[in-house]
Amino acid sequence: MGKRTCELCGHEIELEATEEYHIVPGGVREQAGIQNSRAVRLCPNCHDELLKWYSARVATTIYDAKMKRFKAKPPLEMAKEYEAAYRMFAEYKNRR
Ligand SMILES: [Zn+2]
Repeated sequence: MGKRTCELCGHEIELEATEEYHIVPGGVREQAGIQNSRAVRLCPNCHDELLKWYSARVATTIYDAKMKRFKAKPPLEMAKEYEAAYRMFAEYKNRR
């Protein structure tokens, strides 16, 4: 049985425990028509943390001043936001 290291915290985990996660969630990739997106191998703890980070930092809506209401962001913009949020998360994890 092999061991793998989590890309973010460097902890060694049993092979089954580490899974690959796409930085950009499936629904967004589909809508944006993205075929290849980067996947990272994370331990369950880092993955949980990443999801919380996303929900705190990735806004799915944008304020439309003309319409005076919030509207959904275009999928490609969303994909870029997820990528940027992941980079910030990785930097934050590396600092500790
Ligand atoms: Zn980890």
